[in-house]
Amino acid sequence: MNPFFLLLLCAAIIHAQPGSPTAPLEVLRDLTSEKALKGYSTACDKACAVIADSLPSALYYAKTGNFQFWDTKQSDLTPVCRVEPSSSEEVSFVLKTLIDTKCHFAVKSGGHDRTPGSSNADGGVTIDLVRMNEVQVAKDRKSVKIGAGLRWGDLYIALEKEGLMVVGGRVAGVGVGGLTLGGGLSFFVNRHGCACDNVLSYEIVLPDASIANVTHSSNPDLYRSLRGAGASNFGIVTYFTMESFVPPNPAGIWGGQKVFPWEKLSQYLQLNYNFTTNSMELDPDVAAWNSFAYIQAYDSWFGGAQMRHITHTNASTWPEAFQPYQELEGVPQAISIDIKPVSNITLEIDELVPSGYRNIYGTFTYRPSVELEAKVLNIFREEASPVKNMTGFVPAVTIQPISYAAIEKMKKRGGNALGLADNANEGPLMIINTSWVWKDASDDERSYAAYHRFMEKAEATAKEMGVWHPYKYINYAETTQDVWSGVGGDNLRELRRMQRIVDPEGVFTKGGLASGYFKLNELPEGGKRTKEECGGVGDRWETDL
Ligand SMILES: Cc1cc2nc3c(=O)[nH]c(=O)nc-3n(C[C@H](O)[C@H](O)[C@H](O)COP(=O)(O)OP(=O)(O)OC[C@H]3O[C@@H](n4cnc5c(N)ncnc54)[C@H](O)[C@@H]3O)c2cc1C
Repeated sequence: MNPFFLLLLCAAIIHAQPGSPTAPLEVLRDLTSEKALKGYSTACDKACAVIADSLPSALYYAKTGNFQFWDTKQSDLTPVCRVEPSSSEEVSFVLKTLIDTKCHFAVKSGGHDRTPGSSNADGGVTIDLVRMNEVQVAKDRKSVKIGAGLRWGDLYIALEKEGLMVVGGRVAGVGVGGLTLGGGLSFFVNRHGCACDNVLSYEIVLPDASIANVTHSSNPDLYRSLRGAGASNFGIVTYFTMESFVPPNPAGIWGGQKVFPWEKLSQYLQLNYNFTTNSMELDPDVAAWNSFAYIQAYDSWFGGAQMRHITHTNASTWPEAFQPYQELEGVPQAISIDIKPVSNITLEIDELVPSGYRNIYGTFTYRPSVELEAKVLNIFREEASPVKNMTGFVPAVTIQPISYAAIEKMKKRGGNALGLADNANEGPLMIINTSWVWKDASDDERSYAAYHRFMEKAEATAKEMGVWHPYKYINYAETTQDVWSGVGGDNLRELRRMQRIVDPEGVFTKGGLASGYFKLNELPEGGKRTKEECGGVGDRWETDL
């Protein structure tokens, strides 16, 4: 494995898992019968028994079968059982069983979240969407219905056979579910916005176990909420229908990778600043991110640029926007340019590093500033150095610019829940993703401590310099971070109100049965909300779904 590529990644990733065979649809039995619920020691033992009774070929006890998570902190947890439903009806049955038996649960798509409990339920039931892996291209080829358990690599392979593409993730093993519900930064963000901005409809099992199809016209408020705040807050999304398009170059997209030694840092940061504030806004077909990392094998610190262009068709020349990177001297053995299908790019990234590591991701946002980046990277080295000998340690700071043009695209069909497009003339913005990777649980304490010291100092510096922005990208956030303040007061009030309306019993709240991940609301007092608490808009719905 070429360690230079580690610079170009957010963190380690696992190999894509093949989907399990689809189970035949069972006749769903009456789960509330006395017979089904008698004689079990815990609520989740009961739930598993009821599910096993009706969906025997979809149920697994403990960790048998094909069950993998990207991060070992998540895979270390042991659910009483896990279930792999194959349809919205089966998801609905499973959810109703869990509510009736009061068993706590978690929902898993690609399993790439880093926080224990967010997509695996210790001592509970994990709903693994792995069998929800259909790809159905519409007759007019303008949209694709996608199962929520599919991974991006498998989706791109299926779409490329059809000569189509969608806006999605950049690493094959990541799930369509989590990435799309949190936003979704992609190679196409500058031209089309985030993955969530390109979802036309959501099939969802709501917290009362009913199945709904949510579109901009059927329920604009819930539709908007699902576009960025949708993970584990409003129910279980089973299918996404996404806009599809014919890719501009059937051969794939242009990619350039170049690694720079730390001595070139000030010139490199200046290039990034010029790109972000100028070329990125002029050329809608570019995408880029920059990673700064410590590589144990070399005992050295490097910076690396990942550059993409979706319409540049010459594999041996550099697009104009990236020519300054071509000119700056890099590490000779770590420079490459090529044109490849999106599926290959995402699979290549996926294969470079194995699963089986412990990871933290954390994030904050700021306005372009060479001075801040230089200070942040100094703090990064200061705080990562004392723990640099931890087994398997790869600390990295990845910086992704979000253009004004990309934020404008977030206004499509009533906008999204990220809140950025609600601000006048927003952008360009810089999103930091700190990824901290290590091997042994015995290093957890000092790893977390060093990570927190770095993030606190880095964010405080951005505030002192007046370039800090309150937004925090939920897909990169660490569990202690406040991801909601930055979406804007009115937007947040609306998201919380929608969550209360959709989920009056608080199933998907902090303290509810599905309590992992970033929650909009806490479990209501007494476990049930009043009509007034739901905004006084009827028993449950403001509008009919
Ligand atoms: C190696 C790597 C590469 C990444 N690359 C990118 C990238 O290119 N662009 C980007 O924007 N982000 C990227 N991310 C961040 C990624 O988008 C988030 O970590 C995302 O949450 C992962 O989704 P998942 O389905 O794989 O994870 P999971 O752990 O399965 O799910 C994450 C959360 O979403 C909830 N959830 C998942 N599916 C559903 C559903 N159908 N209904 C309701 N809730 C659901 C889960 O319950 C869980 O709480 C990357 C992360 C990693 C680790």
